[in-house]
Amino acid sequence: MNKAILLDRDGVINQERGDYTYRREDFSVLPDVIPALRVLQEMGYMLIIISNQSGIAKGLFTIADVEKLHSYLVAYLDDNDVRIKEIYYCPHHPEYSSCICRKPDSQLIEKALARFNIDPAKSFFIGDKERDILAGKKAGVQGILIDSNFSLMKAIEPIIKGEKK
Ligand SMILES: [Mg+2]
Ligand SMILES: [Zn+2]
Repeated sequence: MNKAILLDRDGVINQERGDYTYRREDFSVLPDVIPALRVLQEMGYMLIIISNQSGIAKGLFTIADVEKLHSYLVAYLDDNDVRIKEIYYCPHHPEYSSCICRKPDSQLIEKALARFNIDPAKSFFIGDKERDILAGKKAGVQGILIDSNFSLMKAIEPIIKGEKK
């Protein structure tokens, strides 16, 4: 079985601006992200992003906007020798429709675990909100809660040291 690092997007990979981020010009990858993801990749972890994008349900932006931004992100990281296996996102919001894919629900994580044959016990979820950690927990994946826009290099120290709760 494989092991993976599941990552929230906004505030973990790219700067959390306190507003919806869907335009390329508003999107900036945080400083430590590339070196940190390279380290994890070299340790044999698959890298998967799991994101809530309720702005789609709210009509603030479209699936096409999100896909375009994600294509940019994947290509940018790829140019820097970081391979993102997949980006899963929930386009829903409870005020508009119910779903089981929005974090703190764990459906997207479970999809990723099944598709890529990932052992949850060997994997981690890094997020900047409690709901990220809850979603991981439901799928049996240990969470690492960080402040928004925190250094990813520092965040992964317990993984590098092999600490497991
Ligand atoms: Mg976030
Ligand atoms: Zn959903």
